[in-house]
Amino acid sequence: MPHYDYDFFVIGAGSAGVRAARIAGQHGARVGIAEDRYLGGTCVNVGCVPKKLLVYAAHFAHDFEDAAGYGWTVGEHRHDWARMIANKNTEIARLNGIYRRLLEGAKVDIHETRATLVDAHTVALGDRHVTADKILVATGGWPVIPDTPGAREYAISSNEAFFLQDMPERVVIVGGGYIAVEFAGIFQGLGAQVTQLYRSTLFLRGFDDDVRETLAEEIPKTGVDLRFRSDVVRIEKTGDCLLAHLTDESMIEADIVMYATGRHPNTAGLGLEQAGIDMAANGAIVVDDQYGTSVPNIYAIGDVTDRINLTPVATSEGHALADTLFGNNPRGVNYDNIPTAVFSTPPVGTVGLTEAEARERGPVDIYRTTFKPMKHTLSGRDERTMMKLVVDRDSQRILGCHMVGLDAPEIVQGLAIALNCGATKADFDRTIGLHPSAAEEFVTMRVKTPDPEPAPRSPREAA
Ligand code: FAD
Ligand code: NDP
Repeated sequence: MPHYDYDFFVIGAGSAGVRAARIAGQHGARVGIAEDRYLGGTCVNVGCVPKKLLVYAAHFAHDFEDAAGYGWTVGEHRHDWARMIANKNTEIARLNGIYRRLLEGAKVDIHETRATLVDAHTVALGDRHVTADKILVATGGWPVIPDTPGAREYAISSNEAFFLQDMPERVVIVGGGYIAVEFAGIFQGLGAQVTQLYRSTLFLRGFDDDVRETLAEEIPKTGVDLRFRSDVVRIEKTGDCLLAHLTDESMIEADIVMYATGRHPNTAGLGLEQAGIDMAANGAIVVDDQYGTSVPNIYAIGDVTDRINLTPVATSEGHALADTLFGNNPRGVNYDNIPTAVFSTPPVGTVGLTEAEARERGPVDIYRTTFKPMKHTLSGRDERTMMKLVVDRDSQRILGCHMVGLDAPEIVQGLAIALNCGATKADFDRTIGLHPSAAEEFVTMRVKTPDPEPAPRSPREAA
């Protein structure tokens, strides 16, 4: 058997790579990992974690307002952007240290440099080469800024938004996905005047339509100028500010223009083509159901495969791969009923099929409720909660749970367990509610939403 420097070499110490390396090390494999930017990857440094901290920061603004109805007089308050960013950076540095210790504890060699593939068993680390029996590519993704004139020159992505020196007063956000919606809420809450532009008719494509429509009603109430069928055609700089020219020929002055228009897999210049690894048109590494690439000893997991780009999916894939390769425990990941949240204002929590997806499979019963959350009876805030169950009509199994409203992410995690256990509407109905909570509505909805009218027949069919 040829002797390699490592049993397993991991390129990229993000959510996916760290988990795979750590578990492989704990199983006794000789493991090396390369990271050229930051331990913990996107989620820890420029993703989930700093994003959620900024979401908390932004929500204080609403809490101060809401407090008045409860008898509080909140004194003068102002936000110190620089202090928030410094504190966030301290927390991220702490997490970087935890990731380092986790890897060291599993006896993983950490190479803090860019890695590229030389051949199926060789990785270049700068001038050095190391060899490995098995190689894992877990290099994640990177924001895409389209080729709109001035955009790549003057606009920022979420990566830079986490490190702005000063709080921008006027922000234009382009995009209608998770990141755009979340950052609109962050900047608005922290006091900026925010305009969010989405190029088509309704944002959050892929989410349940009731979620999309509810959020499209709620976000403007927070003060965000949310515009659909609108896009930037050109950005220019005039003095200290940016001028975004829009599709309707209007202009907006802004301190920053932020593009949140998707992310592409981080595969350029990695040497994958030379190694014979198949990639999709967008650069995503093509893998089989065991995360194998077209080269038998090379694997890929996480965002670089561009399937479900969420941290818990990346870590689960890393764990399963390490157990399979080195733990004598071949196993995959359960991709059913993956819950997800948009940390918007108000937030979204969702698991399972959308109504549209479920209807494609067969007849469904829909239960839907909207209400003013109890907190806002006294706060006076004009914010409504929407909750929805999508139920398979024949089996009565719950296929999807969707919520827009306070605490939606916290509520939906538990419902995901019920869906994975195959819960039926009757199981939900026989569960006693937790009172008073919004969550109890999920077990008290009894009235079905009437079936939609069949689409009108064309004149030719009617004739
Ligand atoms: P990454 O975490 O991107 O890790 C890849 C690592 O590889 C990086 O550290 C990179 O520097 C390194 N690397 C790349 N090329 C090389 C090379 N050649 N040599 C050495 N190292 C290399 N997901 C959620 O579940 N919940 C959220 O709330 C959430 N919020 C998000 C908010 C934002 C703003 C963003 C951008 C993403 C968010 N995500 C969220 C998605 C989540 O961050 C990703 O799904 C997750 O980080 C993917 O992990 P990964 O290990 O595949 O990739
Ligand atoms: P998304 O793919 O979610 O959304 C991209 C948005 O940009 C879509 O609205 C898309 O519109 C629009 N868009 C794409 N290209 C253009 C263009 N050229 N001009 C104008 N608009 C454009 O990407 P994000 O960047 O928001 O997030 C990346 C991924 O990170 C997410 O999909 C998710 O997997 C993960 N993430 C998860 C979070 C969470 O769990 N809370 C939070 C943040 C990120 P259209 O729909 O019309 O194509």
